[in-house]
Amino acid sequence: MEKKPYTKPVLTRQHAGITNKFAPFVVSRHKDTIDGVSIDALVKEHGSPLFVYSHETLKEQYASAYQAFATRYPKVQFAWSYKTNYLKAICRAFHRLGAWAEVVSGMEYAMAKSLGVPGNEIVYNGPHKSPESLRQAAVDGAMINIDSFDELPELEKIADELGTKVDFGVRVNMTIPGYAMWDRFGLNIESGEAYHTIKRALAHQRLNLVGLHTHIGTFMLEPKFYGDAAKKMIDLAAQLKREFGTTLKYIDMGGGFASRNRLKGSYIPTDQLAPDFDMFADAICSPLLDHYPHDELPLLIIESGRALIDEAGYLVATVVSTKRLPSGTRALVLDAGVNVLFTAFWYDFEILPTTDKGLFTEIHNIYGPMCMQIDVIAEAVRVPFLEKGERVIVRPVGAYNNTQWLQFIELRPRVVMISNKGNIDVIREAERVEDVIRLDSIPRWLR
Ligand SMILES: *Cc1c(COP(=O)(O)O)cnc(C)c1O
Repeated sequence: MEKKPYTKPVLTRQHAGITNKFAPFVVSRHKDTIDGVSIDALVKEHGSPLFVYSHETLKEQYASAYQAFATRYPKVQFAWSYKTNYLKAICRAFHRLGAWAEVVSGMEYAMAKSLGVPGNEIVYNGPHKSPESLRQAAVDGAMINIDSFDELPELEKIADELGTKVDFGVRVNMTIPGYAMWDRFGLNIESGEAYHTIKRALAHQRLNLVGLHTHIGTFMLEPKFYGDAAKKMIDLAAQLKREFGTTLKYIDMGGGFASRNRLKGSYIPTDQLAPDFDMFADAICSPLLDHYPHDELPLLIIESGRALIDEAGYLVATVVSTKRLPSGTRALVLDAGVNVLFTAFWYDFEILPTTDKGLFTEIHNIYGPMCMQIDVIAEAVRVPFLEKGERVIVRPVGAYNNTQWLQFIELRPRVVMISNKGNIDVIREAERVEDVIRLDSIPRWLR
């Protein structure tokens, strides 16, 4: 190999923010308002950290999802997934827009009832339905989707005690080519488990099969998987009709559509990757429309959660300290960490300053206030040079954070919602120490 001629090394200053051969084009952006409301004013009034919901975005997301299905399929019903976000105002907002409730535990069942949702508009899923809540759901005429064979005798007993017919659905799972199946929820189709459980259920005079349910996964980026799942549901329904003469009232395709968040380690931003609602709707509705005569179409239930609420939620946080790590990387410590941002474990959020900091950005690690090594909101992200007291906005955070947040070390902050008229309402008060210790008690001998 020929030796290359020597050239003297030179240092060339590279300007951040301008595309060059060493770095992608990086522009520092900022966001100082949400729906026209000043973030500064929000924090002055409500404190930091602060969760902020845009009702306008919630409404738009719901409308585009609903439209996608309703323009293709004449009988579609959305059911709001409570575990995705069960702040009362969020649930109520979705119910106002026409969504039923989808709950996965006795606690969530009671929450839906307390919001005034009638039993026949509650879809009751989940691997653990407490006996009392299962009984209540049977009395209320809720859509109970059984998850395991063991739930059958319980439901039979309830039906016998009530002395009435009880409608039920069955949650199923199935092999989908190219997809690592979720096999722990519901009953498997291919193994015959679903069929045999249904057969046993139908032998009981008081149980009446009315629906099939599946929820194939979450943050799904491939509409085709839904099409494959729908076909398997249709085949099973056809077999049940042939053998037992059952006509299903509903087919429930669950949720799981991806939001515009970015999964950790994914190079392409999800807003360029996530299919839109039309593609999911197409995949699901086409096989149903192909199979059923128009007047025999079952009700199609969709339980989309994260895709409807993620983008409507923001977290405003404040820099409480900054440091230079031994590696040279700069670090920010915020007043909010994984305690309130559970989804930080799998998302790379967008993190923006709330004032214009110019073009210069630097690689940062962003930490929360927990005394724990795992309290990392973002690693090696480009943000401008921020100092103590300055603020950032983290988005999208509307899905799963206000249900999975922890009361750990810190109190959970206030949550506000901005209405379409620009009004700001507190939809959850900040916790106080009294709230945290209210249920504790000290044994007499320790007093
Ligand atoms: C969690 C869940 C949903 C909602 O899932 P997303 O991924 O938030 O859309 C819907 N149905 C069931 C049964 C669930 O467990």
